[in-house]
Amino acid sequence: MKRDQDIDLPDGRIFVGGEWEAGNGAEIRSVFPADGSLNRALRGASREDGLRAIARAKAAQADPSWRGLKPHQRARHLHAIADGIEANAARIAFIQSRDTGKTLAETRALAASAAGTFRYFAAVAETWDEALTAQRGEALTMSVHEPLGLVAAITPWNSPIASDAQKVAPALAAGNAVLLKPASWSPLVSLELARIVEAAGLPKGLFSVLPGAGREIGGLLVTHPDIARVSFTGGTETGRALARKAAEKLMPVSLELGGKSPTIVFADADMEQALAGVMFGVFSSTGQSCIAGARLFVQRSVFDEFVGRLVEATKRLKVGHPFDPETQVAPMVRREHRDGVAAMVSAALAEGATLLCGGAAPEGSDFEAGAYYLPTILSGVTNEARICREEVFGPVLVVMPFEDEAEVVSLGNDNEYGLAAGIWTRDFPKAWRVARALRTGTVWINTYKQFSISTPFGGEKESGMGREKGRAGMLAYMAQKAIYADLSGAPLPWARL
Ligand code: NAD
Repeated sequence: MKRDQDIDLPDGRIFVGGEWEAGNGAEIRSVFPADGSLNRALRGASREDGLRAIARAKAAQADPSWRGLKPHQRARHLHAIADGIEANAARIAFIQSRDTGKTLAETRALAASAAGTFRYFAAVAETWDEALTAQRGEALTMSVHEPLGLVAAITPWNSPIASDAQKVAPALAAGNAVLLKPASWSPLVSLELARIVEAAGLPKGLFSVLPGAGREIGGLLVTHPDIARVSFTGGTETGRALARKAAEKLMPVSLELGGKSPTIVFADADMEQALAGVMFGVFSSTGQSCIAGARLFVQRSVFDEFVGRLVEATKRLKVGHPFDPETQVAPMVRREHRDGVAAMVSAALAEGATLLCGGAAPEGSDFEAGAYYLPTILSGVTNEARICREEVFGPVLVVMPFEDEAEVVSLGNDNEYGLAAGIWTRDFPKAWRVARALRTGTVWINTYKQFSISTPFGGEKESGMGREKGRAGMLAYMAQKAIYADLSGAPLPWARL
């Protein structure tokens, strides 16, 4: 096997309806966040490229070679994609680490998860049962599902292969064609996925990968009359703008948006378990995670002790190069994103926050050219502070004390977002009560950031709408149809024949 560093990056062509073409859109630069070096400069898709991809997808989706497949036959294609991802796991991990700066340990796990997602939705397609509904007259009544036709998937830069798979797999499993628009900071791994889908032998044209400007290519996909649904993961403001456009053509959208998730440590928690979980929850992926547990509430009687240990352990986290197996905190995706995070920390300090650790880029020549930032803990603010309201999308944790269960439920819910939450306690009935009272899409009890493809994921409030994953995750990509079939053999009486 090639050493990781010898793996070739995708050549910069884009995948337009089954053809590898040079894009005609604006230049996109994929940069290695560890040192700022250029991975690849490529031309993104232009509007005309997008229109060509849509026309090819339409023809491919309508063709009996795809449209006529039985679900178990479609499932074979999905398994072939999963095989391709598994066979190319090292390549995918390397490319994604180059694109995003994530550690290889994390990108290997994301590649494995993407393969699992294709296998899961292959199984869902094969085992999907349609319903004979309760008959109320002289007709057999049925509920069946059809493909929507053309589906667009728009994804962010933070976990591209996993978020791509979460949309592409159920959409293909349901019999659609898919047009994927990755984020401009991380186009390469999605182009690698295109290579794998192509090798898996899906009908030509059924899948496209169209890196490009959000407004132009994303906008085209949202507004084009042939696109029947958009599944979007990204920031809340982008999602809101997109949903407004979708409303114009009465198109449903799935929105997986931002978060500002609370984690709650009760005095009766297992402190080691809570420490490890809180740190993983906010500092893994360098905090660039929609579900980052960014607001920490610690019960007052253990606040000083817990926060003291947390700060000491956080200072010991290994910040380093994405290819160093010891690294826990890798660079952020881009220097401009790192600088934005640093500016939010500075603003919090100016508003009276106390810096307990971090708050700067690490020192030393190893870090100078990269987008590094130290894991940062702030205290001394209330839940009203801007740093507690706005998504930072970086390794920044705010710690606050609380008195009792009722207060912490109210604090946890007092936020525009509602994506996830963590609860740390040995008292299970209490954990259950709090889990049920928090208005978030996911709650973890004595653990954090654990995922299963069979468990639905999505947000409440400004964290989005709709759910991905789980058997029901495929429903978003299917049109439900009722069929009535007469059993009487007689003319309807109204005509009085
Ligand atoms: P973003 O909103 O800037 O971009 C997301 C995608 O939308 C990109 O592909 C972008 O090019 C595209 N886009 C931009 N403008 C568009 C427009 N006008 N029309 C259509 N598409 C457009 O988000 P980002 O910075 O790439 O990602 C970070 C955000 O994603 C964070 O807010 C994070 O919380 C969120 N996120 C949410 C989840 C989740 O599952 N809830 C998962 C990961 C990331």
